[in-house]
Amino acid sequence: MALSINTRALSQSGNKAQDIARLAEMRPVHEAFKWFQSHEADLRKLQLTMVKIPAPPFGEGARAQWLHDRFKEVGLQEVEIDKAGNVVGLSRGTDPKAPLVALTAHIDTVFPADTPLTTRIEGNKLYGPGISDNAAGVMGLLATAAALKSTPALKHVSGILFVGNVGEEGEGDLRGMRYLFQESKWKDRIGSAIVLDGAGVDSVVTQALGSKRFEVVVRGPGGHSWTDFGTPNPIVVLSRAVAKFSEIQVPSEPRTSFNVGVIQGGTSVNSIPESASIRVDIRSASAAEIDAVEKSLREAVTAAVREVQDAKSKKGIVSYEIKLIGQRPAAELKPDARIASVIRAVDAHLDLRSQTRRASTDANIPLSMGREAISIGAGGTGGGAHTVQEWFDASGRDLGLKRVMLAVLALAGVNE
Ligand SMILES: [Zn+2]
Repeated sequence: MALSINTRALSQSGNKAQDIARLAEMRPVHEAFKWFQSHEADLRKLQLTMVKIPAPPFGEGARAQWLHDRFKEVGLQEVEIDKAGNVVGLSRGTDPKAPLVALTAHIDTVFPADTPLTTRIEGNKLYGPGISDNAAGVMGLLATAAALKSTPALKHVSGILFVGNVGEEGEGDLRGMRYLFQESKWKDRIGSAIVLDGAGVDSVVTQALGSKRFEVVVRGPGGHSWTDFGTPNPIVVLSRAVAKFSEIQVPSEPRTSFNVGVIQGGTSVNSIPESASIRVDIRSASAAEIDAVEKSLREAVTAAVREVQDAKSKKGIVSYEIKLIGQRPAAELKPDARIASVIRAVDAHLDLRSQTRRASTDANIPLSMGREAISIGAGGTGGGAHTVQEWFDASGRDLGLKRVMLAVLALAGVNE
């Protein structure tokens, strides 16, 4: 008999908490939980090893190969690195026709290839760039797969597709998830997705924060600081543009933000630069507000170019270009989605008072396609994300892993 959670039956009978309790009490599920407790030391070792393998945006290959080998070790089937660079492996279900439950975690980091990837341990606390975001998430994949393998009596109905995906951070622009849901051989077989991102058990991302990212490049003739004095300077143009742009007002509801995150340009102190560039990130719960901030950015750049150009027109001209370098769709999970009632019931069972949040995660892609997806943490606690001081505290990680296991099994259905 299959124990699976059916939203309609649940909302009518109101017994979803009972279904989760019944699932949690099954002997094989208990055995899987025990694996989490008895293998915490192994998980820490793996997590530190993984962090030392560089995975900068667009350079995830070495880490993908490492994860590919781990996926094989934990007994997953059909393990491969797909065309996008995602590592995919399947835990087959008893019903090969049932829609798959995808459990995903991004493997890329924000750190450039030359970042020293040094790690250290202080008690339960692990330090290293990417140790929480998203080595913690990847450990969630490996622990779940390993616990399933160690419990052959635990048979799930739907197959569980494990995915270590590329391209979540920065200019990766969710390309791993886009490929998985739009092009891969699995795209029509995935029924729901749980995205593991970072540490924690305190939140559920059900709303996808939209964003647009731009690179603004200004070019000029350049020249010698002394002999070509007066030639329009791209750094000056961009500085003026940033000053104007940063003064715009954005609403607090719908919450909207913007950031100038990178500025580059010039070659030496005594050269007028030939080019300079900035990168800008705009986010909002509302697509219309994103467009409004984009318009302000364009106006600020045009005005700055015009001002510098008017004053220096005899000494050559500057040109500019505003390129869209990233776009993440805003979307949200339907309130009656099955995955929403499953995670609510799991959290109630585990006595977790989790908050529903809006964020930009890999779940943006399935959510924007009307598919069922959430993003949650993989247990423990973490901090300092996107800095080299990043840490992960593994204390109580097994609670987060139980939460992941219960949610995945509830979605997949279990044979009693
Ligand atoms: Zn992340």
